[in-house]
Amino acid sequence: MRRIVVIVPCFNEQESLARLHDRVQAVAATLPDYRVDLLLVDDGSTDDTPRLMRELAAADPHVGYLVLSRNFGKEHAMAAGLDQTDADAVVLMDADLQDPPELLPEMVMLWEQGYEDVSARRRQRQGESWFKRSSAHLFYRLLHRVARVEIQVDTGDFRLLDRRCVEALRAYRETDRYTKGLFSLVGFRKAQVLYDRPGRFAGHSKWGYRALFDLASEGLTSFTTAPLRLATVLGMLISTAAFVYLIVIVVRTLIHGPDEAGYPSMMAVLLFLGGVQLLALGIIGEYLGRVFNETKRRPLYIVSDARLWGTPVRAAEGVP
Ligand code: UDP
Ligand code: MG
Repeated sequence: MRRIVVIVPCFNEQESLARLHDRVQAVAATLPDYRVDLLLVDDGSTDDTPRLMRELAAADPHVGYLVLSRNFGKEHAMAAGLDQTDADAVVLMDADLQDPPELLPEMVMLWEQGYEDVSARRRQRQGESWFKRSSAHLFYRLLHRVARVEIQVDTGDFRLLDRRCVEALRAYRETDRYTKGLFSLVGFRKAQVLYDRPGRFAGHSKWGYRALFDLASEGLTSFTTAPLRLATVLGMLISTAAFVYLIVIVVRTLIHGPDEAGYPSMMAVLLFLGGVQLLALGIIGEYLGRVFNETKRRPLYIVSDARLWGTPVRAAEGVP
């Protein structure tokens, strides 16, 4: 019997867990040819989430859990889950039921047809502000254009991954993670199912605009060096223009004699150039910061407690 493990990163999701478990269980009942297990990854919750996980695992042999030692962020919680499973397929799903478990049979069907990465693409998003929707929309399209890897538009982390995909993903140990891009980097045959994304079942989103901005700059800087090139091109254009302007001034002074004092234009040029330089430095800094982070080679996560169907926790430091 083939085994599918549903990995769910949870950060303060006490209101959703029981409901999530019910719904996954109900869907599992419609897939009698598979063993469907639930791996809950607690990402340093401060509410009752870990206690509820232990209760669920004690009552249901299909539930396992990992408790991380602190909040590492969703990307790292997913990495932890992926490291600790040896299932035939893995499904990544949010705890807040925004990723409907009922999509599973359709995903499994495509998986059986030979697709190794079956993701769910959002047709519609409910319960999310206009600003969040349109900024997400813009961001995916921007990333799609500038990054060399193809990043699936309107697709989150909700997907079914074949074991081969999971094993490939495990090899990516970068500290600054943008998992959505990694799915594309590992390749394999991809298919998509469409769905309407419902609002959160309970609680509130853990992604403030700041976190979203961080994730967006992560996505950009880890998959493309185009911003660096932009700085170079901008610098070249501006210095060329400034050089031409300089020659014009020299020639004009030679022909017409010294001009009026050009203080305002001078200031304008100075400030403009200063701004461009800061921008370029900032962009370089973004990349340099990431190089710095990676050189520390810190573990991606630390497991403080786990129950994994009898198998011991593999390399708790997160390095396989
Ligand atoms: N999450 C996590 N660690 C974090 C933030 C979020 O594991 O630091 C989990 C969260 O519990 C949920 C999923 O990631 O299962 C998606 O988070 P959320 O629903 O807040 O994001 P949104 O759906 O608003 O993008
Ligand atoms: Mg959500």
